[in-house]
Amino acid sequence: MTLDERRARLWSAMGLGPEWIQRGTAAPAPVAAPTTTMTRSQRIAGMGWDELESSVSSCTACPLAPSRQRTVFGVGHRAARWMLVGEAPGAEEDARGEPFVGQAGRLLDNMLAAVGLARDGNPPASVYIANVLKCRPPGNRNPAPEEVACCEPFLQRQIALVQPQLILVMGRFAAQSLLGTDASIASLRGRVHTIEAAGRRVAVVVTYHPAYLLRNLADKAKSWADLCLARDVVERA
Ligand code: SF4
Repeated sequence: MTLDERRARLWSAMGLGPEWIQRGTAAPAPVAAPTTTMTRSQRIAGMGWDELESSVSSCTACPLAPSRQRTVFGVGHRAARWMLVGEAPGAEEDARGEPFVGQAGRLLDNMLAAVGLARDGNPPASVYIANVLKCRPPGNRNPAPEEVACCEPFLQRQIALVQPQLILVMGRFAAQSLLGTDASIASLRGRVHTIEAAGRRVAVVVTYHPAYLLRNLADKAKSWADLCLARDVVERA
């Protein structure tokens, strides 16, 4: 009996496998086939505009799907230097499928016009507008963390496709989601933040949500200062 055969018997008696076999004499261990199963986030990260939009419109990945009327994907120029990010659709957005409509939308359009921008403008006067969440939380309640986590890959892909020079994020919830913080909006606004999106660093300026400004007129001046800061960032880029 050869040495290897004696070893095999001994290891077998101990209930152990054949790992003892000398390197070079054993058959090569099978190489695990590369997995072809992509995660949902990976699939979304590889989508173009058409596939992304259709994935959002048919998405049922989180509990917000059953109660929505329409998904709200985003509007504006897909190569804009400015990207505006809000929280989630309200009742009117849910009905029309467009972000920032109604009174808050009109205020936003006026604010944009004051810095030479329009949601239907062409570069360099264009913007792209999207929300963190594409479906309306019932009763405009705050979105749950798992709903945000579920929807986030869509926004990340929109940012990657637009490749904006600046993201103006509107409202506490959207700012906290995008910047990954629980800091107050008062402490986040008035300075330039940076996020990483698809390997690019993108400047982020935080300001108040237009719906908040409708109820708090005194903070419009602060919002104007935020817009001017954002404009300076884009002009310097
Ligand atoms: Fe899908 Fe986002 Fe709508 Fe949830 S909120 S169902 S993740 S599109």
